[in-house]
Amino acid sequence: MYCSKQIISDGVFDPYSNKLLKLSTEKVVIEQGIISDIDSIIKCYNSSYLIADENTIRLLDNKLAASISHHVIPGDSSPSSSLVELIVNKVKDFNTLVALGSGTINDLCKYTSYISNKDYILFPTAASMNGYMSASASILTGGYKKSFQAHLPKAIYIDLDVVTNAPFRLTRSGFADFICRSTAQADWLLSHLLLNTEYNNLPFSLLRDIEQELLKEYPKLIAKDKDVVILLIEALLLSGIGMTISNGSYPASQGEHMIAHAMDEVYGHSLLPLHGEKIAVTTLTMAKLQEEKLLIIPTIKPTTVNEKEIIECFGTNEFIEIFNSKKISEEKAEHLNDIVQKNWSEFSEVVRKNHIPSKVLKKIFCDLGMAINAEDLGWDTGKYKKVVDLAFATRDRFTFLDIK
Ligand SMILES: [Zn+2]
Repeated sequence: MYCSKQIISDGVFDPYSNKLLKLSTEKVVIEQGIISDIDSIIKCYNSSYLIADENTIRLLDNKLAASISHHVIPGDSSPSSSLVELIVNKVKDFNTLVALGSGTINDLCKYTSYISNKDYILFPTAASMNGYMSASASILTGGYKKSFQAHLPKAIYIDLDVVTNAPFRLTRSGFADFICRSTAQADWLLSHLLLNTEYNNLPFSLLRDIEQELLKEYPKLIAKDKDVVILLIEALLLSGIGMTISNGSYPASQGEHMIAHAMDEVYGHSLLPLHGEKIAVTTLTMAKLQEEKLLIIPTIKPTTVNEKEIIECFGTNEFIEIFNSKKISEEKAEHLNDIVQKNWSEFSEVVRKNHIPSKVLKKIFCDLGMAINAEDLGWDTGKYKKVVDLAFATRDRFTFLDIK
């Protein structure tokens, strides 16, 4: 079984490029109680400044927190450009940022340290998402969440007790953000088959064993079983590594993420429902859609939707350029249908080998007490259907959402 620690120390051999890939992260330490040594750990780095939120700062006792230069952001913060500005200012006289938190804190620290040309080290507080080892940061700017180039942490220190005792809602969200590997891989393969875009199996090879184990052991997450939470955090780190070695989020974010992000455009960006909770619902939608399309040879149809419908649905003309670049003409449809006719049965077999059936996913999400339908998340079903239909226009990636 692959583990992040080994990949970081030895690198990983990529049979596709025939190269040994090395990451800029120098170490991953997983230990019980490591958080209580935070002051001596950060002393090893050149003048450090810690960023936490109202919840994560409580992991340090008052005396310890007082001994470290730090700033605490509100617990319900999103990684906004105004917080980026604030942190850039706070850390200007320091050399290393210390992130104590999960999604928002990690995005803010990896981005602000990158644009300020500083290192950052990370103390993750929950197995809640797969962005710890990915080199891009999601920042809310001008009302939209955008992905920005950032960098990897210099080191990650994971306190076993802290991630195990994180709220279960965060842990199960992390599980969903990991298990969407199945729908993401199917979409990435589809683009590769039809448009001959680049595809790399290595990210999935890294995850295979750990995924099998998690598919058996996930119910133990409910009881906060330490070993299984550690498996999950490993899976999330490896998922991030997969994105980093692919130079993009391709192996972990395709149609299911496009729908979730498109729903954010419709309902506005808020912390709740959590990212992984949305991904559970959209992964089920994608898994079902992919199953349907894989069953019979589909016919690719020319685009019939127009710009007005896209603007009306998302309330912005933000996606028009992408939409126009993705439009399928009569000629293109004919060309793609030729490929589909010749290759679909073979392709379908490859995808199905790596696909987790929607029924299995549904059972897992139900076992974990997660929402499985749009309405469970407070989303209007009609709006959701419309977004699923139009989400293809929101990102320059060809997925099963493009097959009408
Ligand atoms: Zn995600």
